[in-house]
Amino acid sequence: MESAIRRVAVIGTGTLGAQIAIMGAHYGHRVKAYDPDEKAFGRVLKLIRARIANSGRKTLPPFAHLEEAAQKIQFYPSLGEAVQDAQLVVEAAPEDLVFKRRIFADIDSRAPREAILATNSSSIPVSRIEGATRRPEKCLNIHFYSPDLGRNIVDIMGGSQTSPETMEAGEGWIRSIGCVPLKVKKEILGFCFNRIWHAIKKEALHMWGEGYVDFRDIDRGYMIWNGVSQGPFALMDGVGLDVVYGIEMVYYNESRDPRDRPPRALKEMIDRNELGLKTGKGFYSYPDPEYKNPEFLAGSLPKVKEEKR
Ligand code: NAD
Repeated sequence: MESAIRRVAVIGTGTLGAQIAIMGAHYGHRVKAYDPDEKAFGRVLKLIRARIANSGRKTLPPFAHLEEAAQKIQFYPSLGEAVQDAQLVVEAAPEDLVFKRRIFADIDSRAPREAILATNSSSIPVSRIEGATRRPEKCLNIHFYSPDLGRNIVDIMGGSQTSPETMEAGEGWIRSIGCVPLKVKKEILGFCFNRIWHAIKKEALHMWGEGYVDFRDIDRGYMIWNGVSQGPFALMDGVGLDVVYGIEMVYYNESRDPRDRPPRALKEMIDRNELGLKTGKGFYSYPDPEYKNPEFLAGSLPKVKEEKR
């Protein structure tokens, strides 16, 4: 699909920002990027390769041509240089409201007046960030779901003053990079598909954390039921358990419902630096997690005895 947006800036090239930049560059957008940590992008490239290898899922075209797309991205040493002529700025910095508001104010003062400002936040509605800018009508949530793992869905949600034109332009851009926009009609924490994933994570963590079920059995059941190569715990390892914990705490802080609080056992894993794939140990051990072994799902199948006639 044609999109009026051609010039994109990505702020923060960690796990998700790097993927967003790669998607844009592959589909012909001119992508400028900024991250205070110059090594972040390179580290993520390595992580993406490992994630693709571990998931066993089919990836999207930009990641099948990873090096090529990565070379098209232009990196800048300051935020101002990256956003100065952007039509769309996608912020993918750490998940912290105060921090994001500060970055949005900075982007607002340096990007062209007509530029659209999007946050890739997993849990913060843009209505809580838009006030840091002088263009609330041009602010929106554009939330990706690990396109490296073949997930080409993107939530799109407006803030309190987002104009229909901004939503339309956002949707057009999402389609222009081979993704399917999931439009949220009324503000809700967690957007569209994220809430479904949150419900699964919350129950799975509770079952494991309270000692009801071994996490492997939850993954086995999920894998067989859905016909997929990873269960919730393998997926959480891929996201990073620190990131998962942070996101779950946002839901808890919003509801204050004790059932929304991630279990203490998860926090203990994080304190031991067991963060999942990125540290080599989470629920599973990497690079050869046991769920990839064909035996993992086979169980112990009884031998069928041949009856003598
Ligand atoms: P990450 O920690 O991998 O990356 C964040 C990056 O932001 C780092 O490279 C860091 O150096 C950079 N950064 C720090 N300060 C900055 C600043 N002032 N300006 C620009 N960049 C700065 O985190 P992530 O997992 O990529 O998450 C980023 C955002 O994307 C979060 O809001 C998160 O909720 C959201 N998100 C994450 C996932 C996921 O699966 N990890 C999925 C969807 C959305």
